Amino acid sequence: MSSGSRVPMSAETAAFLRREQRLFIGGERVAARDGGRIEVLNPATGGPLAQVSAAGAADIDAAVAAARAAFSNGPWPAMGPSARGQLLWRLADLLEAHAPTLTELEILDNGMPLDPAGMLAVPTAVKILRYFSGWPSKLGGQTLPADRRPGAASPALTYTRREPVGVVGQIIPWNYPLAMAAMKLAPALATGCTVVLKPDEKTPLSALFLIDLLVEAGVPPGVVNIVPGFGETAGAAIAAHPGIDKVAFTGSGEVGRKIVAAATGNLKRVSLELGGKNPFIVFADADLDRAIEAATRSAFFLQGQNCQCASRLFVHEAVAAPFTAGLAAAAQALPLGPGWDPRTRIGPLISAGQLERVAGYVELGRKEGARLVTGGGPRPGPGYFLPPTVFADIQPGMAIAREEIFGPVTGIQTFGDRDLDGLAAQANDSEYGLVASVWTRDLGTAHRFAEALRAGVVGINHHGGGDIHAPFGGYRQSGWGREFGAENLDLYLETKTVVVRYD
Ligand code: NAP
Ligand code: MG
Repeated sequence: MSSGSRVPMSAETAAFLRREQRLFIGGERVAARDGGRIEVLNPATGGPLAQVSAAGAADIDAAVAAARAAFSNGPWPAMGPSARGQLLWRLADLLEAHAPTLTELEILDNGMPLDPAGMLAVPTAVKILRYFSGWPSKLGGQTLPADRRPGAASPALTYTRREPVGVVGQIIPWNYPLAMAAMKLAPALATGCTVVLKPDEKTPLSALFLIDLLVEAGVPPGVVNIVPGFGETAGAAIAAHPGIDKVAFTGSGEVGRKIVAAATGNLKRVSLELGGKNPFIVFADADLDRAIEAATRSAFFLQGQNCQCASRLFVHEAVAAPFTAGLAAAAQALPLGPGWDPRTRIGPLISAGQLERVAGYVELGRKEGARLVTGGGPRPGPGYFLPPTVFADIQPGMAIAREEIFGPVTGIQTFGDRDLDGLAAQANDSEYGLVASVWTRDLGTAHRFAEALRAGVVGINHHGGGDIHAPFGGYRQSGWGREFGAENLDLYLETKTVVVRYD
């Protein structure tokens, strides 16, 4: 990046931001039919970044029609699995070739610091595309034994086919935009679906940058349609659309419920990745330095704006004092700043609204009687900054211990030996069940808790989902279905049974 201007960016990024950012429907870049626009802001400064067309219901109709046509006719359904795999691989190559620009766009649009943007955003998207590029040729069905009855006319052969579910609507949030887009697009394309993708209205830029790369990779027109827009209009139109066979959503439980309700019209399939209030349990025998380092990373990754973050810390009373002091010191050592400054470890929150919401929780925590160990209110000045914040003396009934804050705020509650029996139940006492972790050197304790914790991912001396090839998703209100791994493909496939008579 050059640093000539106040917000440093490369010439390619600057040129992209100057372009008129239109919708991508049926292989064409088109303005919104009702002229709707989004002003995209830079969360580090609050200043304008780009003007983007905002899809309305009529644009969603057009995108669904294009996706249906591409699903039913033309090159896409005729494309063999190897060709689909190569296409995903090529797309990954193109992401790598444009990694510097995509990284800058993620930083400018979302506010994430260079680390993780540089280290994780593009590499994660690339890994996802490469993982799913291997799947199209492996989506076989089964051959099943048939009950042949001598002398009777009966089927001689039964087999199953795995077929794409059809036209898929995908609605993604703002917290990890490029990786989210890859996470949604890759399994849908691997299975042969066609897509209407709505990025979050706050962070549409990396998805819009993908348009050129999709075209260059050879994705046929209409296979992927990219329609930035507002949730209440474009998102709601996708969720309710009778021409969409399946909707995949990542975001809040509140919107997840609306999507489920809207999907009942045509009983479209629904998968949901919602929030978490993730327990992180530190036993007295844990490697405390590792636990503190991981709690810091897991609580404040993406400014705590991520569904996996370690937001409920349960710490054994014997180690609570050094753990709390260590976490507070580590939190204070994380420099706040714009994402493009390489020293920054905590970037801005996504918006003024999110800053207000998170600051509201910090205030509420104080009122509820939790002890503020470090951090606190918003940092004055431009941009939406709030320092990493740690509360201690949390009681399980407090709102800050129960509700997903989605900001750099975590809280510590302690337990003693007499509480061990109920500890897993206490950790499970949440409407969410996404990620949990246990920190101990005792094998029996580790595996007992891995079994007892009701969450989609349980870490042992590790917090958070693992590799792209392992399923990720939630119990309870953390979601429906699993992304990543082979299970992800099930969300985009139907199973057809074929029954054959020989005579
Ligand atoms: P959100 O409202 O759930 O937004 C997620 C996506 O849904 C966005 O693309 C949004 O569009 C869209 N949307 C909004 N209303 C819709 C509707 N009626 N029908 C269909 N789509 C709709 O999340 P948020 O407001 O950005 O964040 C609020 C809270 O959600 C956060 O504080 C956090 O607790 C949670 N969250 C969780 C995750 C996660 O990864 N699990 C991610 C983000 C947020 P817009 O472009 O209008 O926003
Ligand atoms: Mg929203």
